[in-house]
Amino acid sequence: MWFWGWVLIFQANADLDGLAKEFVQLTLDLGQHDAYLVDAYYGDPELQKLAESEKKPLDDLAQSTKKLLKRLDSLKGLKGEELKRWTFLRAQVRALRSRAEFLQGKKLSFDEEAAMVYDAKPPHYDDAHFQKALDELSLLLPGEGSLTERLSAFKAKVIVPSIKLDAVFRAAINEARSRTRRHIELPQEENFEVEYVKDQPWSAYNWYKGNFHSLIQVNVDYPISIDRIIDLACHEGYPGHHVFNALVEQDLVRQRGWVEYSVYPLFSPQSLIAEGSANYGIQVVFPAQDRLTFERDVLYPLAGLDPQLAEPYLKIQALMHTLNYAGNEAARQFLAGNWDAPTTSSYLQKYTLMDPARADQRVRFIERYRSYVINYNLGQDQVAEALNAACLKGADACWKAFENLLRMPPIPSQLAGNAKDQ
Ligand SMILES: [Zn+2]
Repeated sequence: MWFWGWVLIFQANADLDGLAKEFVQLTLDLGQHDAYLVDAYYGDPELQKLAESEKKPLDDLAQSTKKLLKRLDSLKGLKGEELKRWTFLRAQVRALRSRAEFLQGKKLSFDEEAAMVYDAKPPHYDDAHFQKALDELSLLLPGEGSLTERLSAFKAKVIVPSIKLDAVFRAAINEARSRTRRHIELPQEENFEVEYVKDQPWSAYNWYKGNFHSLIQVNVDYPISIDRIIDLACHEGYPGHHVFNALVEQDLVRQRGWVEYSVYPLFSPQSLIAEGSANYGIQVVFPAQDRLTFERDVLYPLAGLDPQLAEPYLKIQALMHTLNYAGNEAARQFLAGNWDAPTTSSYLQKYTLMDPARADQRVRFIERYRSYVINYNLGQDQVAEALNAACLKGADACWKAFENLLRMPPIPSQLAGNAKDQ
């Protein structure tokens, strides 16, 4: 009996390898119809050449995603790591099918898309929920004028002068890197470069190039306040996107030969794990008191800013996290066609306190990336909930749980918060 058992497992592995390779090719093929789909690819260059040499019809590709899903569903008897592999691959293929149908013209609602593409259920909050946070914020921001004006006046005092931006950013990313390396063994050759760019709908981006290398771009269209420095250094770099991608490449692609991870389709459950862990990782690498100390004693002086602003500004930002969910409500209404761009921008200005230029930039982001916006705040909160028990035990346990999540990512519905209400 055991012999036949081994044969079956061997067969399942071989099937999974084949289906995973098809997923990679299909993603690259679909990328020929969708400039934003393939966020990273560092697998066999022949597959990329194949995709470019013959642009396959969209309808054929949509059909192929459906067939691939069916064949994955017919695989039986998987256990342990193979089951984890299958679960993640299946969720990625389901998202790819949904993206192919979107490109064909099928429009899902914000919530349907979040479920199909990101395996998530975004909560709904009414205006009263955000008003409560705005009222609390009002107490923290003294002065005359509207809350937006008072926040802008405060923020004007914590803008990093552009001439100092690079030095301040590098100080933060070097610190985040050395802290991360104390807890996670990273590939020896991992490295990154930083570029400053303009005219983008995002504030920063990590382009993972493979071979443990990232290009981190920081958008300097608008002034950058000092809180964004640690956020971006951790989110894009350590222990965020760069670390996640490097560990996935090392553990899953190179060691296990799971080729499906060599391509990262942006519109997929992998993004909720990537954005959620990149945001949650900020407090793993800089717990509240550490962050205050490092910002106040190192970054503020380096930027030539008043260190006494560090503590009140951190309190303001904690309340701003609640307001981030107003961005999801804006996306939900905008994508449903209930609100036009100016109405959406006004709502963002009122409930997330963005200035008009930022709010307009955000509307452009929503237009391009749609329900992707949930990955940042909902993703962060779901990762936080999944790691909460470990993190309450102390820094080492928290880092270990965080590292495990990056090395073998679950699908979003397996994270604590979502799993509970299913
Ligand atoms: Zn990100």
